[in-house]
Amino acid sequence: MTGNLIVIVGPSGVGKGTVLKKVFEDLDNLVFSVSVTTRKKREGEVEGKNYFFKTKEEFKEMIAKNELIEWAEFVGNFYGTPKKYIEDRVQEGKDIILEIEVEGAKQIKQILPNALFIFLAPPSIEVLYKRLKERSTEPEEKILARVEKSKQELKEINRFENLIINEEGKIEETAQSIIQTIQAHRQNKQALSK
Ligand code: 5GP
Repeated sequence: MTGNLIVIVGPSGVGKGTVLKKVFEDLDNLVFSVSVTTRKKREGEVEGKNYFFKTKEEFKEMIAKNELIEWAEFVGNFYGTPKKYIEDRVQEGKDIILEIEVEGAKQIKQILPNALFIFLAPPSIEVLYKRLKERSTEPEEKILARVEKSKQELKEINRFENLIINEEGKIEETAQSIIQTIQAHRQNKQALSK
């Protein structure tokens, strides 16, 4: 049987990375789709693990060659999902998680409406701002730009079937909600294929 495509969407700073780390620890047959980006590497990030870091020219070339299943501009940088890796893993029967922003998720929804979409939301904009500040990977103006972008993204929540709120200090609970949603999706698909 082919694998499932799972799209985790939600604002920058909502805690997607932290929660997903937990999901990967607890759930098997799951792989992560490593995106390409033109943004600068943050301290501690590893090429090929967090992202494939590209120049704008390289990124544009990938678009021209139709190598990305979706892509979007996000606060001055480009981000995209390489197509081939996803196709190969799905063929192998692996479930693959894409951790992307809203515009890209909308593109995936158009071409693959049966994928599983989970919107991970913060309890409030204030909490989101606080988390971005604590992460302190960006200067204040960039943090504010990300918060502004998040406000727009939160308006699109209704487009996605599953909404999970990442409450403060509840990483374990949030991860378990995601795991249950994925397991239910797997069971539905299995039942349908019988
Ligand atoms: P960051 O710069 O914080 O790593 O990511 C900024 C935003 O881009 C996050 O919301 C993240 O989920 C999103 N993102 C990461 N990879 C991709 C991708 O391949 N496509 C799209 N559309 N968004 C992505």
